[in-house]
Amino acid sequence: MRMSKGRLIVFSAPSGCGKGTMLAEILKDENYCVSVSATTRSPREGEVDGVNYYFMSKGDFLQRVADSEFLEYAEYCDNYYGTLMSEVDGKLNEGKNVILEIEVQGALKIREKRPDALMIFILPPSVSELRRRLKKRGTETDEVIEQRVSQAAREIEVASKYDYAIVNDALEDAISDFFAVMRAEKLKTQFSENTINEVLKNA
Ligand code: 5GP
Repeated sequence: MRMSKGRLIVFSAPSGCGKGTMLAEILKDENYCVSVSATTRSPREGEVDGVNYYFMSKGDFLQRVADSEFLEYAEYCDNYYGTLMSEVDGKLNEGKNVILEIEVQGALKIREKRPDALMIFILPPSVSELRRRLKKRGTETDEVIEQRVSQAAREIEVASKYDYAIVNDALEDAISDFFAVMRAEKLKTQFSENTINEVLKNA
């Protein structure tokens, strides 16, 4: 049977929604991988170049924009973030589901360029819970936290443009919702060409 291509999955969540923890769980399944983005922001403690992000200067980033290396990019909280084309297509062709962990402006560009992409938005239980989680993380100043909370509220307003919204309150429930979505998506007829052909074989 011909190997199916993987699915491109856009996974957006405002900062502090537990996206990292959710992704760590999802990535235990070897059918999934993430695209490592490029960014001009400085690494946080513990972040590794080439693993969490490709960290680069603004000059390097803009050169790559000029060289058309990005599938999408956006400016977010005074830094640039972008998806490198080289991170995506090879992995999809190997049959992996590739997750793009990106903010909403970039996600909406993907919707236009890759209409087949599956768009999932992760919601916090509430904005006040989001603020509490960001403070607990302790990696940003109060000013940056407030900037991120207002940004989050603006992003959540765009959630209805996604295919699915999953609330991350209890992690196990959010993960179970994610795999339920994937399971249903796999059964959509537009992705079931191989299955239909198998059934018809020797008819
Ligand atoms: P953080 O600085 O917290 O790692 O990320 C800030 C925001 O940038 C998050 O919403 C994250 O999803 C988003 N982001 C990360 N990589 C990309 C990317 O390649 N493109 C876009 N558009 N957003 C990204």
